[in-house]
Amino acid sequence: MNDDGFDYDLVVVGGGPAGSTVATLVAMQGHRVLLLEKETFPRYQIGESLLPSTIHGICRLIGVADELADAGFPVKRGGTFRWGRNPEPWTFAFAISPKFASDGATAYQVERMKFDQILLDNARRKGVTVRERCGVVDVLEEDGRVCGVRFDDEDGVRQELRSRYVVDASGHRSRIHNRVGGERHYPEFFRNLALFGYFEGGKRLPEPNSGNILAAAFSGGWFWYIPLSDNLTSVGAVLRPEALDRVREGDRETVLRQLISECPLIAEYLAEATRVTSGPYGEVRIRKDYSYIRDTFSRPGMLLVGDAACFIDPVFSSGVHLATFSALLAARSINSVLAGDLDEATVLAEFEARYRREYGLFHDFLVAFYDMQQDEDSYFWTAKRVSDDRVASDVQAFVQLVGGAGSDERAFVDADSYLRERKAAFRELADVVQGPVAEAGEDRNLLGASMLKEVLKEGVRVQTQAALGGNVDEQRPIRGGGLVPSADGMRWRRSESVAPAP
Ligand code: FAD
Repeated sequence: MNDDGFDYDLVVVGGGPAGSTVATLVAMQGHRVLLLEKETFPRYQIGESLLPSTIHGICRLIGVADELADAGFPVKRGGTFRWGRNPEPWTFAFAISPKFASDGATAYQVERMKFDQILLDNARRKGVTVRERCGVVDVLEEDGRVCGVRFDDEDGVRQELRSRYVVDASGHRSRIHNRVGGERHYPEFFRNLALFGYFEGGKRLPEPNSGNILAAAFSGGWFWYIPLSDNLTSVGAVLRPEALDRVREGDRETVLRQLISECPLIAEYLAEATRVTSGPYGEVRIRKDYSYIRDTFSRPGMLLVGDAACFIDPVFSSGVHLATFSALLAARSINSVLAGDLDEATVLAEFEARYRREYGLFHDFLVAFYDMQQDEDSYFWTAKRVSDDRVASDVQAFVQLVGGAGSDERAFVDADSYLRERKAAFRELADVVQGPVAEAGEDRNLLGASMLKEVLKEGVRVQTQAALGGNVDEQRPIRGGGLVPSADGMRWRRSESVAPAP
């Protein structure tokens, strides 16, 4: 233990993208950081399709963007969807701004064993002490605040360490997330089930979109089809919870094959492919109950980031984005307190507000995206309606549903104006996705919809900050009296501007 009574300034629990990112960003400010990871890396994880703000924003901030560029991951220009009313697949590209059109409007499809290893090794290089095979079992508390962790070390011996902060980045299986208080809520709308495996020899989309995620709706749900290399493809079905019986009764391999045969586009792409049956990709896996949010993300001395706090749905690759973005928010908060710039209550309030806002934007966008299927006569998400008469097939009823469900983020917005704004935004989005196109397969300006622009705005800001090493635009707080990022993006500072951003 050091003279100040702490072994570390920060202990991070979990070495996935969220944990590596927050640990690196705090260590880069010269603080003492320990990361405890239960497994030995590389370890398997799902979540392979990434967003540009993760790659060109946060990964650049932590100094790993060039290494990722050299790793040979397939470049993802956007997404190709067989979704909505159009029976033909349509494509969108991440070309959201001319500023990033040349090198920032892409992401990668990654084998998480490789991606997470790169991030964890980078954390080590940036000064984080990383200990694998160390499972955290609980937090230590003193005078109402968290002040360390209890864990089983590499030899299975129970240990305790004291730290000024603990960040729980231990994912959906976290053992300590409930120590912030409150509960984990599972929104009914996203209570789905995923069945997935890996194939060799699958077909690729025509260039320049061969690295795109392909998402294909079918009567039972939808498929993701993610190219992980020239030869390897991640294939998963997202299904209604009722499908659980089907999965339980049959063997997973057979059920996956049946589902593929029910989705003509995916069946066509896998016609010549064989399923991988050995090694880490050899298993047909299942995940359920993966969509949830806690009603608080922090308490004095402790913050939750990534899947330990919340996850929505696989459809728009928001998982690793929310994981790394929340890690950035947490790091700014911890760095600000450790530097003596701001008090803990102020930074934790900023952390919660910005994290919930980002979650809320994605949540609403994803609900709208699924809801577009419900206008179709016999489309598959009808059964997902939450049940009562508020859940009609038109946009207005739908907005009311959103207004009444999972409403954490509305704690800091006026409910009436929120509903008015969202109603207009949902209509616009529906027009963009469902409106006619001149040619089947033409790029749609999905990202021109103001709702998605809003979703991506913060990511673009992070991206700009990382690329140019400072703020390029005047930042305004997201709420009255809120904070804004420092010029280097590593801390918070009080804003000159009192008014929140419009
Ligand atoms: P994780 O990646 O889960 O890392 C947590 C780490 O903590 C692990 O290494 C674990 O071993 C460690 N740990 C656990 N317990 C302890 C403990 N007690 N002590 C110490 N260490 C511990 N996201 C996307 O961005 N794109 C996608 O295409 C995508 N597809 C998905 C498909 C499905 C079906 C699902 C369910 C999710 C998908 N996601 C996707 C989400 C993505 O998997 C997660 O959001 C992301 O992995 C979260 O990262 P994390 O760092 O928070 O947690």
